[in-house]
Amino acid sequence: MPIESPDDVAVLVELLERSADARGLGDHFAFLAGTRPEWFRPHQESVIASMLDRFEVGFGDLCSLLAGAPDRCVDLVVRRLRERRSFRDVWALAAIGTGAALAAVARHDVRRGADRREYEDLGVWVPADGPARYRFSPQRRVVLLRDEGVDHPVGLSIEEIACDPVMSPISWHYMSLRVAEVPGVPAWTAERVHLVGTRASCMWTLYANVDDRGCYRDEVVVFDEPPGPEDEIYRAFEQPGRGVGAVELKPYDADLVYSNGHVQGTPGVVGVAGGPPLGVYANPSCRSCGRLMFHVTTVENHVREYGDGWRSLFICEDCRTVACNATGWN
Ligand SMILES: [Zn+2]
Repeated sequence: MPIESPDDVAVLVELLERSADARGLGDHFAFLAGTRPEWFRPHQESVIASMLDRFEVGFGDLCSLLAGAPDRCVDLVVRRLRERRSFRDVWALAAIGTGAALAAVARHDVRRGADRREYEDLGVWVPADGPARYRFSPQRRVVLLRDEGVDHPVGLSIEEIACDPVMSPISWHYMSLRVAEVPGVPAWTAERVHLVGTRASCMWTLYANVDDRGCYRDEVVVFDEPPGPEDEIYRAFEQPGRGVGAVELKPYDADLVYSNGHVQGTPGVVGVAGGPPLGVYANPSCRSCGRLMFHVTTVENHVREYGDGWRSLFICEDCRTVACNATGWN
């Protein structure tokens, strides 16, 4: 089903309205979110009012499609949340993202007893006072693996990343991103920020402070499951030069493969920079200030083969701290 005009979007929304099982439509809405989200604007209100229960769209796409919906929608969702909690209403309220919506998240939901983790898992922080805040950039870029490139290197040596490479628990460099090329990410202390790993398959978070040159120090690894003897196999992978290359960041467009709520099926795509975090695991809070950390990127371990699952990078721009975490596939 081609989506080449606003009229096609009207037909798509009509199908959603009439269909009891709309799962097959999700990829079309994801395509729309990635290419022409503005065409969805006239339909925001009707979908929020009566079709959210079958609107099978991931949170990142929902942020593109529902962004800026009128305050009437915020009032409606808040009323529904008071009557009966549904994760789709939680997602919708966060995805609208306007001042009214983010104030409602804090004032009408979390401070009236809702679990703030529901929002934090989406990358939305609810401070003690004031409105909720996005801790991610709504502007997404796909991360494409390349053989070479200078901006975003894959496979640096530990000496280039860690202030004390001998004592560091960092055993692997996945990639470094030029922060300025991920729109909406706060200004960072150095030109690049590094996504790194430790010697374990997954289920860990590596925290570090960052010095003026962007080097990581005072690293601490928190394991959900302590590494076992089987994780020692990764030692054999740790050859300098293995998997060295680069990534490139590109805006979403019509050339991507939109399938099952993601674009990972696109040849060469290994992840996303910008956008909300995965949302299926708790997101890290800064160990210095306690604030939910800002999500920069999430990629597959295949970006530079090591460990298993997703690798995500978060920063606290005020405290100059980073967190790299490793989670299973879902
Ligand atoms: Zn902090």
